[in-house]
Amino acid sequence: MSKAYRAEGASLGDESFELSGSAEFTEAVKTKPQQRSESSVSIFSAPDESQTAAQLIRKAQDILVICHVMPDGDAIGSLLGLGWALHKLGKEHTLACADPVPDSFAYLPGSEAIVTHPEGNHDLVISLDCSDLKRLGAAYDQDSLRGVPIINIDHHVTNVGFGRVNWVDPSSAATAQMVLTLIERLEVPLDPTMATCLLNGVVTDTRGFRTPNTTPAVMEAATRLMTAGASLPEITEQVFNRRPLAVIRLWGRALSAVQLDGRIIWTEISQAMKHECGLSSDSDDGLVSFLTSACEADVGVVFIEKDDGTIDVSMRSMSGIDISSVAMRLGGGGHPQAAGCNLSSSLVEARERVLAELRHSLLEQTAPLQH
Ligand code: AMP
Ligand code: MN
Ligand code: MN
Repeated sequence: MSKAYRAEGASLGDESFELSGSAEFTEAVKTKPQQRSESSVSIFSAPDESQTAAQLIRKAQDILVICHVMPDGDAIGSLLGLGWALHKLGKEHTLACADPVPDSFAYLPGSEAIVTHPEGNHDLVISLDCSDLKRLGAAYDQDSLRGVPIINIDHHVTNVGFGRVNWVDPSSAATAQMVLTLIERLEVPLDPTMATCLLNGVVTDTRGFRTPNTTPAVMEAATRLMTAGASLPEITEQVFNRRPLAVIRLWGRALSAVQLDGRIIWTEISQAMKHECGLSSDSDDGLVSFLTSACEADVGVVFIEKDDGTIDVSMRSMSGIDISSVAMRLGGGGHPQAAGCNLSSSLVEARERVLAELRHSLLEQTAPLQH
């Protein structure tokens, strides 16, 4: 089921959320979708918000699409997939992300066109894969975009509903799966380019169809994308099977320092470790998933010291253990089994704070089982 919010202005000042007064916007928001029969295929069972989003897109002149900072495969795949659809629609648009595209996703067509500081006179913003406004980072300039409606398309259970239209569907395994629905709503025919970008999003967010949220609907979406020309083996090869040697060396260092704290397995990556291994950009999320495969652990955590001195905390958990609430309490967000936050502190302080929160949460979550 989709969790839907509308015009709540949850995380912005009121001023930014005053209705723009656009008759077209109001009409689009009010318009109800057509009734669909039970026998409709799954794309028609999407919530009203996908229709509203499609109507706003059709009416917009110049659209700014933004994905989250430190982008992953779903963020970049969704951004590019939607970008190619807007191109087909003949819409002026800009694709933006505050951080550069990671090397592993540079193979996606159009990745070189993504900008970090978008300019232009946009009349619509689409936020992809972001649970709160902060996640758009510097790519969203609050001053120049004041009053411009935001369509918030996301699948995080922790989404705070910061858009004018909030299409939030935690039952989707990836935002790319939702973008596929949107493209179908826009009646843009899928092509191999679009399909590759979107399948990249689905494959990475499900870690190759291995996460507990890999439902038949996810497989159905993947089938549609493959039928449209996306190559699953090529995507898998790019995103999981190729890594710079420096990353493997770094994992070696981090793995040799791994610690077990009750059922929490953790390690950390300092700036010095990255430099010593010759790594220029941040590593992928494979390490934390690998740690969490330890039989002795239910939760895995990697603390990464970023270039700006803040600490990125990446967490994973076994099915049945929720870590999104801990991430949310620490100012971050995510999914029940994959969540994170960013802390302005030293590595040691971040570790103590996060481990204390996790111990407490695990105790609460597992206590009833001990009776
Ligand atoms: P990661 O461990 O970076 O792969 O992130 C796991 C999940 O948590 C992803 O869905 C992220 O979007 C989310 N996440 C990570 N860091 C943050 C943060 N600082 N704020 C909100 N969500 C986050
Ligand atoms: Mn993401
Ligand atoms: Mn995602």
